Amino acid sequence: MIRNYQDLTRLEMEQLDRKHTIVLIPLGALEQHGNQAPLGTDDIIANAMVSYLKEELEAVCEDFPMLVFPVIPVGLSTEHKNFCGSVTFRPDTYYHLLYDICESLARHGFKKIAFLICHGGNAPLVQILSRELRSDLGLYAFYLSSGAFSHPDVKATVSPGNIWDFHGGEMETSMVMAVDPSLVKLDTAQAGIPAPFLHTRALKPYGGASISWMSEDWKTEDGTPIGIGGDPSGATAEKGSIILRTSARELVPGLLDISDWDVDEEADEQNS
Ligand SMILES: [Zn+2]
Repeated sequence: MIRNYQDLTRLEMEQLDRKHTIVLIPLGALEQHGNQAPLGTDDIIANAMVSYLKEELEAVCEDFPMLVFPVIPVGLSTEHKNFCGSVTFRPDTYYHLLYDICESLARHGFKKIAFLICHGGNAPLVQILSRELRSDLGLYAFYLSSGAFSHPDVKATVSPGNIWDFHGGEMETSMVMAVDPSLVKLDTAQAGIPAPFLHTRALKPYGGASISWMSEDWKTEDGTPIGIGGDPSGATAEKGSIILRTSARELVPGLLDISDWDVDEEADEQNS
Protein backbone atom coordinates (compact mmCIF):
# COMPACT_ATOMS: atom_id res chain seq x y z
CA MET A 1 0.00 0.00 0.00
CA ILE A 2 1.22 3.50 -0.78
CA ARG A 3 1.25 5.66 2.34
CA ASN A 4 2.96 8.79 3.54
CA TYR A 5 6.03 7.95 5.59
CA GLN A 6 5.06 10.38 8.34
CA ASP A 7 1.56 8.94 8.74
CA LEU A 8 2.74 5.61 10.14
CA THR A 9 2.97 5.00 13.84
CA ARG A 10 6.15 3.51 15.26
CA LEU A 11 4.37 0.21 15.72
CA GLU A 12 3.17 0.21 12.11
CA MET A 13 6.71 1.00 10.99
CA GLU A 14 8.07 -1.89 13.06
CA GLN A 15 5.61 -4.27 11.42
CA LEU A 16 6.31 -3.08 7.87
CA ASP A 17 8.38 -5.17 5.46
CA ARG A 18 10.95 -2.40 5.27
CA LYS A 19 13.46 -4.41 3.26
CA HIS A 20 11.11 -4.59 0.29
CA THR A 21 9.36 -1.23 0.68
CA ILE A 22 10.46 1.66 -1.53
CA VAL A 23 10.93 5.03 0.14
CA LEU A 24 10.17 7.67 -2.47
CA ILE A 25 11.88 10.95 -1.60
CA PRO A 26 10.62 13.85 -3.76
CA LEU A 27 13.30 16.50 -4.22
CA GLY A 28 11.99 20.01 -4.79
CA ALA A 29 13.56 23.46 -4.89
CA LEU A 30 12.75 26.98 -3.73
CA GLU A 31 13.85 29.25 -6.52
CA GLN A 32 12.73 31.92 -8.95
CA HIS A 33 10.61 30.75 -11.86
CA GLY A 34 10.37 34.02 -13.77
CA ASN A 35 7.93 36.85 -13.26
CA GLN A 36 4.82 34.74 -13.39
CA ALA A 37 5.31 31.45 -11.49
CA PRO A 38 5.83 31.00 -7.73
CA LEU A 39 9.14 30.33 -6.01
CA GLY A 40 7.78 27.00 -4.85
CA THR A 41 6.95 25.82 -8.38
CA ASP A 42 9.10 22.68 -8.11
CA ASP A 43 7.64 21.79 -4.70
CA ILE A 44 4.10 22.27 -6.03
CA ILE A 45 4.94 20.04 -8.99
CA ALA A 46 6.55 17.48 -6.66
CA ASN A 47 3.42 17.20 -4.50
CA ALA A 48 1.15 17.04 -7.56
CA MET A 49 3.36 14.40 -9.17
CA VAL A 50 3.11 12.25 -6.05
CA SER A 51 -0.71 12.41 -6.19
CA TYR A 52 -0.83 11.48 -9.88
CA LEU A 53 1.75 8.77 -9.32
CA LYS A 54 -0.30 7.19 -6.51
CA GLU A 55 -3.33 7.05 -8.82
CA GLU A 56 -1.37 5.54 -11.70
CA LEU A 57 0.39 2.95 -9.52
CA GLU A 58 -2.78 1.94 -7.72
CA ALA A 59 -4.44 1.39 -11.12
CA VAL A 60 -1.86 -1.25 -12.09
CA CYS A 61 -0.89 -2.70 -8.71
CA GLU A 62 -3.28 -3.30 -5.86
CA ASP A 63 -0.70 -3.24 -3.12
CA PHE A 64 2.36 -1.34 -4.30
CA PRO A 65 4.96 -1.33 -1.49
CA MET A 66 5.96 2.33 -1.20
CA LEU A 67 6.18 5.03 1.41
CA VAL A 68 6.26 8.65 0.30
CA PHE A 69 8.70 10.78 2.25
CA PRO A 70 7.90 14.49 2.75
CA VAL A 71 9.03 16.67 -0.17
CA ILE A 72 12.45 18.17 0.54
CA PRO A 73 11.45 21.77 -0.12
CA VAL A 74 14.88 23.32 -0.76
CA GLY A 75 17.52 21.94 -3.11
CA LEU A 76 20.57 22.91 -5.09
CA SER A 77 19.72 26.17 -6.85
CA THR A 78 23.10 27.87 -7.20
CA GLU A 79 22.21 28.92 -10.74
CA HIS A 80 19.23 30.96 -9.50
CA LYS A 81 20.65 32.44 -6.30
CA ASN A 82 21.09 35.98 -7.61
CA PHE A 83 17.39 36.33 -8.36
CA CYS A 84 15.20 37.60 -5.55
CA GLY A 85 13.64 34.90 -3.37
CA SER A 86 15.78 31.94 -4.45
CA VAL A 87 17.09 29.81 -1.59
CA THR A 88 19.75 27.14 -2.03
CA PHE A 89 21.80 24.69 -0.07
CA ARG A 90 25.51 24.55 -0.80
CA PRO A 91 26.34 21.29 -2.59
CA ASP A 92 28.05 19.77 0.45
CA THR A 93 25.17 20.75 2.76
CA TYR A 94 22.62 19.21 0.42
CA TYR A 95 24.73 16.07 -0.02
CA HIS A 96 25.05 15.54 3.71
CA LEU A 97 21.40 16.34 4.40
CA LEU A 98 20.26 13.65 1.98
CA TYR A 99 22.99 11.26 3.12
CA ASP A 100 21.89 11.60 6.75
CA ILE A 101 18.25 10.95 5.89
CA CYS A 102 19.23 7.82 3.99
CA GLU A 103 21.55 6.64 6.75
CA SER A 104 18.61 6.80 9.17
CA LEU A 105 16.46 4.85 6.73
CA ALA A 106 19.20 2.25 6.31
CA ARG A 107 19.45 1.88 10.07
CA HIS A 108 15.78 0.91 10.15
CA GLY A 109 16.32 -1.75 7.51
CA PHE A 110 15.12 -0.01 4.36
CA LYS A 111 17.04 -1.08 1.25
CA LYS A 112 15.34 0.81 -1.58
CA ILE A 113 15.34 4.59 -1.90
CA ALA A 114 13.91 6.29 -4.97
CA PHE A 115 14.68 9.96 -5.40
CA LEU A 116 12.02 11.77 -7.42
CA ILE A 117 13.96 14.64 -8.97
CA CYS A 118 11.65 17.62 -9.48
CA HIS A 119 14.41 20.16 -10.16
CA GLY A 120 17.07 19.40 -12.76
CA GLY A 121 19.78 21.20 -10.77
CA ASN A 122 19.53 18.53 -8.07
CA ALA A 123 20.25 15.67 -10.47
CA PRO A 124 24.09 15.60 -10.71
CA LEU A 125 24.51 15.60 -6.94
CA VAL A 126 21.87 12.91 -6.46
CA GLN A 127 23.62 10.68 -8.97
CA ILE A 128 26.91 10.97 -7.08
CA LEU A 129 25.16 10.51 -3.74
CA SER A 130 23.29 7.42 -4.93
CA ARG A 131 26.48 5.60 -5.78
CA GLU A 132 28.00 6.47 -2.41
CA LEU A 133 24.86 5.22 -0.62
CA ARG A 134 25.10 1.92 -2.40
CA SER A 135 28.82 1.61 -1.81
CA ASP A 136 28.81 2.78 1.84
CA LEU A 137 25.48 1.59 3.18
CA GLY A 138 24.37 -1.15 0.82
CA LEU A 139 21.32 0.91 -0.09
CA TYR A 140 19.84 0.75 -3.55
CA ALA A 141 19.28 4.41 -4.39
CA PHE A 142 17.37 4.88 -7.62
CA TYR A 143 16.60 8.21 -9.25
CA LEU A 144 13.60 9.18 -11.29
CA SER A 145 13.15 12.31 -13.35
CA SER A 146 9.71 13.77 -12.61
CA GLY A 147 9.03 15.41 -15.96
CA ALA A 148 8.61 13.43 -19.20
CA PHE A 149 9.53 16.51 -21.21
CA SER A 150 10.56 14.61 -24.32
CA HIS A 151 7.35 12.56 -24.49
CA PRO A 152 5.34 13.42 -27.64
CA ASP A 153 2.16 14.13 -25.64
CA VAL A 154 4.07 16.58 -23.45
CA LYS A 155 5.84 18.19 -26.40
CA ALA A 156 2.46 18.65 -28.07
CA THR A 157 1.38 20.95 -25.23
CA VAL A 158 4.11 23.48 -26.04
CA SER A 159 3.04 26.38 -28.27
CA PRO A 160 4.53 26.44 -31.78
CA GLY A 161 7.80 28.39 -31.90
CA ASN A 162 8.45 28.09 -28.16
CA ILE A 163 11.67 26.17 -28.74
CA TRP A 164 13.59 26.94 -25.53
CA ASP A 165 10.90 25.86 -23.11
CA PHE A 166 12.14 24.32 -19.88
CA HIS A 167 12.80 26.10 -16.55
CA GLY A 168 9.93 28.45 -15.65
CA GLY A 169 8.48 28.17 -19.14
CA GLU A 170 5.15 27.08 -20.54
CA MET A 171 5.34 23.49 -19.25
CA GLU A 172 6.21 24.24 -15.63
CA THR A 173 3.80 27.17 -15.48
CA SER A 174 1.02 24.97 -16.86
CA MET A 175 1.66 22.34 -14.19
CA VAL A 176 1.32 24.93 -11.42
CA MET A 177 -1.91 26.19 -13.03
CA ALA A 178 -3.24 22.63 -13.00
CA VAL A 179 -2.80 22.66 -9.21
CA ASP A 180 -3.82 26.25 -8.41
CA PRO A 181 -4.25 28.83 -11.19
CA SER A 182 -4.31 31.68 -8.66
CA LEU A 183 -0.58 31.11 -7.99
CA VAL A 184 0.35 32.11 -11.56
CA LYS A 185 0.42 35.77 -12.71
CA LEU A 186 0.38 35.15 -16.44
CA ASP A 187 -0.09 38.84 -17.30
CA THR A 188 3.47 39.50 -16.02
CA ALA A 189 5.07 36.69 -18.07
CA GLN A 190 8.11 37.40 -20.22
CA ALA A 191 9.89 34.89 -22.44
CA GLY A 192 13.55 33.92 -21.92
CA ILE A 193 16.18 32.85 -24.45
CA PRO A 194 19.79 31.68 -23.86
CA ALA A 195 21.25 34.82 -25.41
CA PRO A 196 25.01 34.01 -25.10
CA PHE A 197 24.51 30.72 -26.94
CA LEU A 198 22.41 31.85 -29.88
CA HIS A 199 25.40 32.43 -32.20
CA THR A 200 27.91 29.88 -30.88
CA ARG A 201 29.15 27.06 -33.12
CA ALA A 202 28.48 24.12 -30.83
CA LEU A 203 28.44 25.41 -27.27
CA LYS A 204 24.91 25.29 -25.85
CA PRO A 205 23.46 25.53 -22.33
CA TYR A 206 23.07 21.74 -22.44
CA GLY A 207 24.30 18.97 -24.73
CA GLY A 208 27.69 17.76 -25.96
CA ALA A 209 29.54 21.06 -25.49
CA SER A 210 28.11 23.08 -22.66
CA ILE A 211 28.84 25.24 -19.63
CA SER A 212 27.29 25.35 -16.17
CA TRP A 213 24.99 28.24 -16.98
CA MET A 214 23.67 30.76 -14.49
CA SER A 215 20.10 31.90 -14.93
CA GLU A 216 21.34 35.39 -15.83
CA ASP A 217 22.36 33.82 -19.16
CA TRP A 218 18.66 33.52 -19.97
CA LYS A 219 17.45 36.90 -21.18
CA THR A 220 14.45 38.63 -22.69
CA GLU A 221 14.52 39.75 -26.35
CA ASP A 222 15.87 43.15 -25.24
CA GLY A 223 18.71 41.57 -23.22
CA THR A 224 17.32 41.82 -19.69
CA PRO A 225 18.18 38.80 -17.50
CA ILE A 226 14.92 36.92 -16.89
CA GLY A 227 16.18 33.55 -15.65
CA ILE A 228 13.74 31.31 -17.47
CA GLY A 229 13.81 29.27 -20.66
CA GLY A 230 10.87 29.56 -23.02
CA ASP A 231 7.67 31.51 -23.23
CA PRO A 232 5.15 30.88 -20.45
CA SER A 233 2.39 33.00 -22.05
CA GLY A 234 0.62 30.00 -23.59
CA ALA A 235 0.37 28.09 -20.30
CA THR A 236 -2.99 26.58 -19.28
CA ALA A 237 -4.22 24.30 -16.51
CA GLU A 238 -5.38 21.77 -19.11
CA LYS A 239 -1.86 21.51 -20.53
CA GLY A 240 -0.52 21.12 -17.01
CA SER A 241 -2.82 18.19 -16.29
CA ILE A 242 -1.66 16.45 -19.47
CA ILE A 243 2.00 16.95 -18.53
CA LEU A 244 1.50 15.73 -14.97
CA ARG A 245 -0.57 12.72 -16.02
CA THR A 246 1.80 11.73 -18.83
CA SER A 247 4.88 12.16 -16.64
CA ALA A 248 3.35 10.07 -13.84
CA ARG A 249 2.46 7.30 -16.31
CA GLU A 250 5.99 7.33 -17.68
CA LEU A 251 7.36 6.74 -14.17
CA VAL A 252 5.27 3.64 -13.50
CA PRO A 253 7.37 1.04 -15.38
CA GLY A 254 10.54 2.24 -13.65
CA LEU A 255 8.89 2.02 -10.24
CA LEU A 256 7.60 -1.48 -10.98
CA ASP A 257 11.17 -2.46 -11.88
CA ILE A 258 12.45 -0.93 -8.65
CA SER A 259 9.86 -2.94 -6.76
CA ASP A 260 11.04 -6.10 -8.55
CA TRP A 261 14.72 -5.32 -7.91
CA ASP A 262 16.11 -8.19 -5.90
CA VAL A 263 17.60 -7.05 -2.62
CA ASP A 264 17.81 -10.57 -1.26
CA GLU A 265 20.12 -11.94 -3.91
CA GLU A 266 22.98 -9.59 -3.16
CA ALA A 267 22.68 -10.19 0.59
CA ASP A 268 22.92 -13.94 -0.11
CA GLU A 269 26.02 -13.37 -2.24
CA GLN A 270 27.67 -11.33 0.50
CA ASN A 271 26.92 -14.03 3.05
CA SER A 272 28.37 -16.85 0.96
ZN1 LIG B 1 11.25 24.33 -11.80
